[in-house]
Amino acid sequence: MSEKVDILIVGAGAAGVGVALALHRLGLKFLIVERYGIGASFRHWPRETRFITPSFTANAFGLPDLNALNPETSPAFTLGKEHPSGLDYARYLEALVEHYKLRVENGTEVTHVEARPEGFRVETRRGLLEARFVVWATGEFQFPQALFPGSELGLHYGQIRRWTALEGEEFVVIGGYESGLDAAYHLTRLGKRVVVLDPAAPWEKQTGEPSQDVSPYTRERLWQAQATGRLELRRARVRQLRAQNGHYRLVLPRGHLLAPTIPILATGFGGGFEPVQHLFEWNGASPILREESDESTLAPGLFLVGPKVNHRSTAFCFVYKFRSRFPVVASAIAKRLGVDSSPLEPYREQGMWAENLARCCTSGCVC
Ligand SMILES: Cc1cc2nc3c(=O)[nH]c(=O)nc-3n(C[C@H](O)[C@H](O)[C@H](O)COP(=O)(O)OP(=O)(O)OC[C@H]3O[C@@H](n4cnc5c(N)ncnc54)[C@H](O)[C@@H]3O)c2cc1C
Repeated sequence: MSEKVDILIVGAGAAGVGVALALHRLGLKFLIVERYGIGASFRHWPRETRFITPSFTANAFGLPDLNALNPETSPAFTLGKEHPSGLDYARYLEALVEHYKLRVENGTEVTHVEARPEGFRVETRRGLLEARFVVWATGEFQFPQALFPGSELGLHYGQIRRWTALEGEEFVVIGGYESGLDAAYHLTRLGKRVVVLDPAAPWEKQTGEPSQDVSPYTRERLWQAQATGRLELRRARVRQLRAQNGHYRLVLPRGHLLAPTIPILATGFGGGFEPVQHLFEWNGASPILREESDESTLAPGLFLVGPKVNHRSTAFCFVYKFRSRFPVVASAIAKRLGVDSSPLEPYREQGMWAENLARCCTSGCVC
């Protein structure tokens, strides 16, 4: 494989397909390269997991489906579901690719990107590509985050394919945000006893910021899990995990806990930046981006889309948040190519364009 393209999008998940739709609207030529297949991360969610953000086809009233990737479509309409599963959402992505005839090369993993004065040199497992612009859209799900020594002994949420496949009656879940509480819900439903450990006790938070608070969907399921009497929520930090005589010893600040089954790590996701790590400046684990274009401050022409976009302490970590930056990236590229970006206006009309971050996108709630 060897090709020169104007715009290369890396990753065919929600972010890659979503930004492609905005570029497609402008008539721009692009190629999406994907290491597995369209919607690969969603296909690997546990079978029972559902979207927490509800889908509803209210697009015609200026309220696009929260999980839609462009102003004209709605997963609720396509799938007939309010809380799609990962497999459902992958089907929505495939339908978009097919309907809009987006160009995707599956089985093409990017391993390294070099910035050159004339553009980007992109190494893939199938050959070399050259691109004037690169849009990085590799997501988080495939890059589990481990936070303490011994984590490799646990089973990360991202490795679980079905809750019914886990053997045992008692489980410890480390991490009590969305994925940890999702694990607790499914396991208690299966009759298991579950202890969830988290030093921040996310189940108690009510800040009004949906990136921090447990969603209403999960809160409702949490009540159901608590009603079984089989769930214990404990404010505690796990310092270390050790194997001990067929059990797992979780070292806590005071004392320890012995788990009879492999502990489930709901410690988050992150990473995926290795091929472009050197092309971004970093603020901890967050790449620093130009606010007006979501572009690298070191390598002009390299853009980021997806949940790792972060500005003014606001994480764009849900579809309805990060989709609002697709027109920002598309119009920045259009401008440099001398292409009219007015076909993107429907994003603005539908509230899918977060342009002036000083005036939008911080959350506070007094109710
Ligand atoms: C359990 C769970 C529940 C969630 N629920 C919701 C929800 O209800 N609502 C919501 O808005 N968000 C939800 N999210 C978050 C949402 O799923 C993610 O933010 C979203 O998937 C991000 O999309 P993405 O395209 O950036 O990443 P992904 O969907 O992970 O796509 C990235 C793609 O890039 C490919 N890739 C990776 N590395 C390379 C490489 N080097 N070369 C080529 N291709 C590569 C991958 O194979 C993958 O297909 C949830 C996440 C999880 C884990």
